[in-house]
Amino acid sequence: MSFSTAAKNIETQAYVLDKPNDPFTLQDIILDEVRPNELLIEMKFSGICHTDLLVATGAIPTLQFPAILGHEGCGYIRSIGSAIKRKDLAIGDFVLLSFNTCGTCKQCSRGHPAYCLNGAALHMGAVRPSDGSSPARLKSDGRSVRSQFFGQSTFSKFTVVQESCVAMRYSFDPEGAAMFAALGCGFQTGAGTVLNVLKPQSDDSVVVFGLGGVGLSAVMAAKFLDVGRIIAVDIAKDRLEVARELGATDVIDSKATPDIAGKIRELTDGVGADFCIDCVGNVGIIESMIESLAKCGTAASVGVMPPGKRVALDPLKHLFENKRYIGVLEGDSDPPKFIPQLVEMQRSGRFPLEKLCTTYPWQDMERALKDMHDGKVIKPVLRWC
Ligand SMILES: [Zn+2]
Ligand SMILES: [Zn+2]
Repeated sequence: MSFSTAAKNIETQAYVLDKPNDPFTLQDIILDEVRPNELLIEMKFSGICHTDLLVATGAIPTLQFPAILGHEGCGYIRSIGSAIKRKDLAIGDFVLLSFNTCGTCKQCSRGHPAYCLNGAALHMGAVRPSDGSSPARLKSDGRSVRSQFFGQSTFSKFTVVQESCVAMRYSFDPEGAAMFAALGCGFQTGAGTVLNVLKPQSDDSVVVFGLGGVGLSAVMAAKFLDVGRIIAVDIAKDRLEVARELGATDVIDSKATPDIAGKIRELTDGVGADFCIDCVGNVGIIESMIESLAKCGTAASVGVMPPGKRVALDPLKHLFENKRYIGVLEGDSDPPKFIPQLVEMQRSGRFPLEKLCTTYPWQDMERALKDMHDGKVIKPVLRWC
């Protein structure tokens, strides 16, 4: 299927949220137009991320409704706007999607597009940055639907994106691409925190709290760097087993361990951890990971939480021990550079993403969400076509 560059009034279906806490319902939508600086994508796979769920419940109250969420996925280019000048994109190409950026601000210019100074509006605003419009409207009553979530809104059979496409550098079977669907957020967040930001050495210790797709990607990335001690922490025993399989040298069942910082010290010869990563977004865990740090150690917040939380730390201890507590968004990734690197790692067998994904037919959104909520699956991925 292909459309002209001026593709207009494309009727399709998407999971629309009418308001916070409503169920995701499949509704008929119309994509008004694909503008010169946009591309039309027929989705093949969409990953579901915890941030989608936080926004869906209104816990991150930044989005107006009705809206189409989803900010991970891959699919086929069906139309390319006339102002898109990239030579690596052609109609019919299979591309991986990621967050969009302005490309011109100070952070974008310095190679840190995850911290794009216009990111809040581009990602959570879910509208076109140029004029605040949305590509989609409801077929039923014509209402405009926010459909640029992270520049993507991938819970849709077709979606309109800007240049936030990552072209694949080699040919491969799209049927087997479900595992790449979540590179655009979850997997690059976990892996990027380790590979782009913390950069542990082999004699360092890394502790990962929370073993969902993000945390397990961090474990795999630490293993990729041959980090000597990789400690995985979670409440779920089956997740701890998966972490072991993926490279964790030690695991801590946080439900059965009252003093987690003490346990980490014990596992690190009494000195504490060089690096800690919180992939949960929980104040208690953050305080405990800061407490677990060795001298000159760094703790990173990666898990998203509702706004307004406060974390307690002892500044004098922080100073004397030269500890750092940082936040990392999207693994500080530059997707067009970093995602191909992760694909190569997967292809070499050293970043086995395929072990984290469970694919659902697109009609089974509700089951996918429930399984994710119940901890039955690590990364649910919808298959559209
Ligand atoms: Zn920018
Ligand atoms: Zn995400």
